[in-house]
Amino acid sequence: MEKLAIDGGKPVFGTKTIRDYFPSWPIPYPETKEKLIEIYDSGKWGMCDKYEKMLMPEFAKYQGAKYSVWMCNGTTTLECALLALGIGPGDEVIVPDITWLATAEAPLYIGATPVIVDVDPETMCMDPAAFEAAITPRTKAVIPVHIYSALADMPKITAIAKKHNLFVVEDCAHAHGSRQKGIGVGSHGQIGSFSFQLSKLMTAGEGGCCVTNDEELFDKIFRLSHIGSSQLHPGTKPDSSLLCHQYRFTDFQAAIIYDQVQHAPEVFAKRNENLALFSKLLKGIPGLKLQKSSYEDDERGIYFFTMLLQPEELHDGITRLEVTKALAAEGFNNLFGGWGAPLHKMTLWNVPENKYIVKDNPVSEKLMTKQVLVGCHQMLLGSTEMVEMAVEALRKVMTAYAG
Ligand SMILES: *Cc1c(COP(=O)(O)O)cnc(C)c1O
Repeated sequence: MEKLAIDGGKPVFGTKTIRDYFPSWPIPYPETKEKLIEIYDSGKWGMCDKYEKMLMPEFAKYQGAKYSVWMCNGTTTLECALLALGIGPGDEVIVPDITWLATAEAPLYIGATPVIVDVDPETMCMDPAAFEAAITPRTKAVIPVHIYSALADMPKITAIAKKHNLFVVEDCAHAHGSRQKGIGVGSHGQIGSFSFQLSKLMTAGEGGCCVTNDEELFDKIFRLSHIGSSQLHPGTKPDSSLLCHQYRFTDFQAAIIYDQVQHAPEVFAKRNENLALFSKLLKGIPGLKLQKSSYEDDERGIYFFTMLLQPEELHDGITRLEVTKALAAEGFNNLFGGWGAPLHKMTLWNVPENKYIVKDNPVSEKLMTKQVLVGCHQMLLGSTEMVEMAVEALRKVMTAYAG
């Protein structure tokens, strides 16, 4: 057996590491620089000006929706989505146990109770059966999350929601450009929410957006996030029951995202090409599986490249930590355990006022503490040579630890 680099053997990446193969991120486009200078010189930096007006229908169309509303981040978008649907104190909102804090913060901010349910062991997304089992007379909405490399099972989730008269808000913070069964993510339910923070697949440094096909919801979300003003009915006042926020976006951010939407097809094609190569080359490597999406033909924007360790196949005493350390010694040094904990174990709940309900979630617990191995999406924009070396490092380490 080959000597692992961690035991003094020769590293697969030689004197380099996988990070040396990453392209610059975010990808700079010369035409964006020109737009930013144009905006700077014009003095029209915000208040839904030229580029935000161009971006609103453009991004909506890209996700298969009619309308989009832009905000300062992808947490406020979830909050405004729930508010626009009339959700509030006493209501329950069902969320999956693998997601970022924001998915549970949104219901908390508006006085509703997040109900945390288990996920599917292969996709890591909300388990539709666990969702249905958690429904009570107080349940008003569900927030499925398209997580890391996978899309949630939207046909099943929307069918259950319809049967029980619940709203669906899709958290698409990881899934820009994704489609399932020909429908853009964000457009399967009533509202979709996106984040454009620095680590996301499309980014303006910060930013968020809601998409919807419903004109009335569009108007409500816009008013809620723009201190009551309306894009649809300029000059009119919101009804007196609507306490509105000021969560506006800027035109600099809008111009940056507008150009990223234009370049999305080539960037997304490259990510998918590398994912296909990884899938092919990883076959037969022991102790390891790629995270699956809900359907074979899901078209995916991939936020984290995600593999799932199979703890039962690892030699005695070998954990995720040993695997990541040995891979890092080979030069494959961008892998980590995702968020490290399921949602119900996150710091949000250190605050006793933050009330939540958690179901018995053995799958998410095992996935987050023992199995998930993720790499940032830049690695899917690297060369074929990089992919081949990464797979070679995985083959070497996993053969030693699980073969
Ligand atoms: C990043 C993220 C958000 C929120 O995004 P911000 O723009 O950082 O507020 C929401 N949900 C998920 C799943 C995320 O990963």
